[in-house]
Amino acid sequence: MIVLHPGLIDDLVEFPDYESIASRPLFSFDVDPAKTQLVKPIGVYRFREKVSCGLKSCHQQHFRGLVVLTRDGGEVNIGHLCGKKHFGEEFGVYANMVQRFMKRKSHIEVIRQLKAVAGRHLGRIQELRSQERGGEWLVHTMRNLRERLPGDAMQALHDAARRGEVEVFEDVLVEGEEADLQREFGMRNAWGGRSGPTFRRESRGRIVGARIWAKEPGSALWSLAVDIRSVLELDVIACPRKSLPRAADIAAQAESRLAECEALVEAGRRFFTEENIRRLRFLPRVFQSSRPALESLSLTLIAPRAQKPRAA
Ligand SMILES: [Zn+2]
Repeated sequence: MIVLHPGLIDDLVEFPDYESIASRPLFSFDVDPAKTQLVKPIGVYRFREKVSCGLKSCHQQHFRGLVVLTRDGGEVNIGHLCGKKHFGEEFGVYANMVQRFMKRKSHIEVIRQLKAVAGRHLGRIQELRSQERGGEWLVHTMRNLRERLPGDAMQALHDAARRGEVEVFEDVLVEGEEADLQREFGMRNAWGGRSGPTFRRESRGRIVGARIWAKEPGSALWSLAVDIRSVLELDVIACPRKSLPRAADIAAQAESRLAECEALVEAGRRFFTEENIRRLRFLPRVFQSSRPALESLSLTLIAPRAQKPRAA
């Protein structure tokens, strides 16, 4: 068993092309694995085109491998598979270690990239939360609407949220000539029958921004801020090994999550307009008994800004 000091691979090089390996003064293209020993990996490569293995007995073409320092001071590139064949466990240990090192290096890199812009991101989040009709306003307004909506209407709104923007309709009672005509042509009424009252289905426009009921802007902003702060405070050297990949995930997604938050706040603004709120009464599959509650809805009733200021 080989015990490697982490320092042994601290300065591992990622070679960009074969030329950058072959042009090194001590590079050898013909190393005899029977006559030498490996000292330590000094670099790693992964190319789009195959290159020849530097072992004399091999010279097979491969995409990736390690550049290794040999006992006599030379350097050789070794394909990842043949390395194991010729040097056995020793190479396996190197390869695993290099892989761990490279993964760690890329995690730290992406975390550092987030740390560099985290202040700006947090500033933008704060802005999105506190601005007029922003995240905080949406939290209150959504809560107020939720309190006023009957359960079936709330469910209908959630269904709409999953489908995105939805067109809503109203069945308007038709009478006189139009109704006679409909009956004459055997058209079915709103309940599928051929007799009784006849209805015409009329569009009442589109309910926009309903996606905030599938993903709430307020909690999206809050959880992104919490996650970014956790990365900002992370000590990349001393932290437990498991924290690094998680933090790297957060870091890699921070930008797109922020864009999603922007879009959600914008959707919230589009949802909470007087027109849009008035359209909620036409949501499909809402019980007749819920109608009065829906018909009494208005933005001024649910938006916090419209409420009477509380006494200090
Ligand atoms: Zn080889």
